[in-house]
Amino acid sequence: MTETSRKVALVTGSSRGLGRAMALNLAASGFDVAIHYGRNADEARKVADEAATHGVRAEVFGADLTVPANAGALVEDVIKTMGRLDVLVNNAGITRDTLAIRMKDEDWDAVLQTNLSSAFMACRAAIKHMMRARSGRIINIASVVGLMGNPGQANYVASKAGLIGLTKALAKEYGGRGITVNAVAPGFIESDMTAQLPDTVQQAYLGGIPLARFGQPQEVAALVAFLASDGAGYITGQTIGVDGGLNPH
Ligand code: NAP
Repeated sequence: MTETSRKVALVTGSSRGLGRAMALNLAASGFDVAIHYGRNADEARKVADEAATHGVRAEVFGADLTVPANAGALVEDVIKTMGRLDVLVNNAGITRDTLAIRMKDEDWDAVLQTNLSSAFMACRAAIKHMMRARSGRIINIASVVGLMGNPGQANYVASKAGLIGLTKALAKEYGGRGITVNAVAPGFIESDMTAQLPDTVQQAYLGGIPLARFGQPQEVAALVAFLASDGAGYITGQTIGVDGGLNPH
């Protein structure tokens, strides 16, 4: 086991998109980073190389999170390889959009397992370690639709609403152990995930956003870096929107 004096952050799904921006921002903030991928090992390697230019350690870990047990094993692997785990960002997520009456069992299961069950398994493994350290930060990447609902996304919405509930429960359970647990609820952020949406759907979203533009991954990553920082030590159990004003609450 290699010990390090720098704090270690694991960002699931950091081979691309929002997770990539989060991992690079955490590296720039001085965290050693564990870059996780599902299928894109080469992209993850490139993210790790870029993170390392900040003078921190960056290692690559692969795990298929459609199988929730893999999430716990991933966390244990990161702790074994990097010596500690201070920040867990549950970011990996998928969509399988269709109307509820047409939704296949496997579309429901894949989204719930990847987005919610894997996040829970990762939290459970991380909390056991963080309890011993009497400190830790967990940041769950939910979505504005987990608060608002959205047609055609019953599985995705349920998974993200579940993540928000999980966040509140864990914050209450482990606050006394020095562990904060928060959720981030992005709105429409430009990434591979949102690029899949038809133009008409994108334009409809745009009409409802007071800031009249889509967000950038960096704008979500900035909040994640803050929640991981010492300055956020008294924030827990919260769900914070990064949505251009789409869902004021
Ligand atoms: P993305 O571009 O599609 O990237 C998804 C990431 O998750 C990739 O790194 C991917 O890894 C990983 N991943 C997906 N399925 C996986 C699996 N089965 N096992 C392991 N890793 C897997 O998505 P994104 O737009 O950056 O979204 C990131 C998170 O933000 C998601 O939780 C999403 O729900 C949430 N979010 C996004 C938006 C948005 O507007 N983009 C809005 C609200 C919430 P590989 O490529 O290596 O397989």
